[in-house]
Amino acid sequence: MLTDGYGRTVRYLRVSVTDRCDLRCAYCMPDGIELRPREDILSYEEIERFVRIAVEEGVTHVRLTGGEPLVRKGIVGHAARLAEIPGLDGLAITTNGTHLADMAESLADAGVERVNVSLDSLDADVFERITGGGRLADVFEGVDAALDASLDPVKLNVVAARSLSQDLGAFALLTAERPVHVRFIEYMTLGSPPLIGSGVREEPIPATEILARLRVLGPELGLGALEPAESPGGWGPARYHRFEHATGTIGVITPLSEHFCGTCDRLRLTADGRLRVCLFSDDEIDVREALRTGTDEDVRSAIHEAVAARPEGHGTRAGTLRSMSQIGG
Ligand code: SAM
Ligand code: SF4
Repeated sequence: MLTDGYGRTVRYLRVSVTDRCDLRCAYCMPDGIELRPREDILSYEEIERFVRIAVEEGVTHVRLTGGEPLVRKGIVGHAARLAEIPGLDGLAITTNGTHLADMAESLADAGVERVNVSLDSLDADVFERITGGGRLADVFEGVDAALDASLDPVKLNVVAARSLSQDLGAFALLTAERPVHVRFIEYMTLGSPPLIGSGVREEPIPATEILARLRVLGPELGLGALEPAESPGGWGPARYHRFEHATGTIGVITPLSEHFCGTCDRLRLTADGRLRVCLFSDDEIDVREALRTGTDEDVRSAIHEAVAARPEGHGTRAGTLRSMSQIGG
């Protein structure tokens, strides 16, 4: 068991398989972000060894992220090898969706069960602008391919920020059109510049405001009332609601307005082989050296060192030196 000094047990590991990405989201990968030299990035064999040991120690769920995990060559085979690790109960992926149309089925066959797709705007022009050239149609093809491949649940992660002027009604309607779970995440100023170069510090939209606006929009759009709902499955800190006439749900994730540190059960492995003790802390434990030159015992000790170093909470701290593309979100 991986229990930290505050009685929280770590069961969930996010693995960033690459710091590269085919998009350039304004808040995540601004121009000029420094990529790690390739030799610093963990090989698939190193990640697989790490996960095997982490699972032996008590991790039960793994999510692959990045950068963009689907741009790393060989990711499907990697997922298949991870899925076979005895004791691993759940394997998921977080992606920008641009390559999902071609890969959803093989990922599902490989043993990936669920997928989160990042989608901050339903306006094709805005989407292209904030992602530095992404095509909204590609992402929708990916989402539909994921649904066809029976990846379940399919969640859409929406970073909520004022400068994006997001059409909440369009996201609400999406949960009636498809069985998808739209999750609004408070924007975090992690090592990132103001959103879309507005020149002002981006202001997150508190989840309470999002829910209040959706409650008004529901009846206006013929979706009915927004009621609290069960989680569609997963192991994250979102709280869910559902419109009366929808199959999908609306979730909110509140890293800023309402901390969920007390129940945090996760550890993060960066693409360059560091264990992050908290999303908001730059304290990292190096595990790459142990994976390259050490024994399994050395890797185990690094995992326990990271778990022991987990802070009780992030307090008022909401920023770090590394961007999300480096940490894995
Ligand atoms: N490329 C994949 C994707 O976009 O889903 C996986 C990696 S991405 C870094 C993981 C998540 O971090 C995405 O959902 C993205 O929207 C989110 N993210 C990036 N920067 C963020 C920020 N400053 N605040 C909140 N979420 C952020
Ligand atoms: Fe790439 Fe994801 Fe970061 Fe966007 S949020 S730049 S898709 S890693």
